[in-house]
Amino acid sequence: MNVSLRRLFARSAKLVELALFPSFCKVCRALLETPGERVLCPTCLDKIRAHRSSYCLCCGRFFEGAGEPHLCLSCIKERPPFAVHRSGGLYQGELKDLILLFKYRGYEILGRPLGRFVFESLKGEESLWWGVEALIPVPLHPKRKSKRGFNQARVLAKELSKLKGLPLEDLVLRKMKNVPPQTSLERDERVKSVRGVYTVLKSEKIQGKTVLLVDDVYTTGSTLKECSRELLRAGAKEVRAITIAQA
Ligand SMILES: [Zn+2]
Ligand SMILES: [Zn+2]
Repeated sequence: MNVSLRRLFARSAKLVELALFPSFCKVCRALLETPGERVLCPTCLDKIRAHRSSYCLCCGRFFEGAGEPHLCLSCIKERPPFAVHRSGGLYQGELKDLILLFKYRGYEILGRPLGRFVFESLKGEESLWWGVEALIPVPLHPKRKSKRGFNQARVLAKELSKLKGLPLEDLVLRKMKNVPPQTSLERDERVKSVRGVYTVLKSEKIQGKTVLLVDDVYTTGSTLKECSRELLRAGAKEVRAITIAQA
């Protein structure tokens, strides 16, 4: 079967599954009663909240407890190539369950509530949004994308682009090498594994612009840093980044 046919088939199978067997919440197994509630029950959806604590003004790393946001030690030592990064929440509990369902179980429709969640959590962050001219999803390697059926970062970026009224530029960054998933690597390996993996194809689309990179989870930040370096090298004026959650 060719790739697009396989994708179409996988998508239709998922839609049929959702239409015929919509009965249980995929997180807590509660019976779903309201039509249209296909994956999560309202109780689980309600538990997904923005994380409120102090954070690093630059990399967005959450600190424990309240207090004024300030720079973390690692950003004081060396500023990352992106100007600012923010996550909506912590990669744990129901939010983690939801992201895992979205990424690995084929529930592309979860991009909607997740996109809305990150938007609602961070819509007031002027340092993130001010002057942004384009949204750029972190790309997947074409092989992994065809296996998964969609790029989760693109689905999120598309949702944010609708909510915020900003253009989506999804053909600018390309992933050239299929490296192992970042979650399976140690810290040092992560930094090495992303080097030279991303390239900018249509630099005219970002030249002189402030752009916002979109990804699902922030772990060490090595992917976002590498993408930011490439975008800056290709002529972007400033790169910022947004993720649903940080691990
Ligand atoms: Zn539930
Ligand atoms: Zn920091």
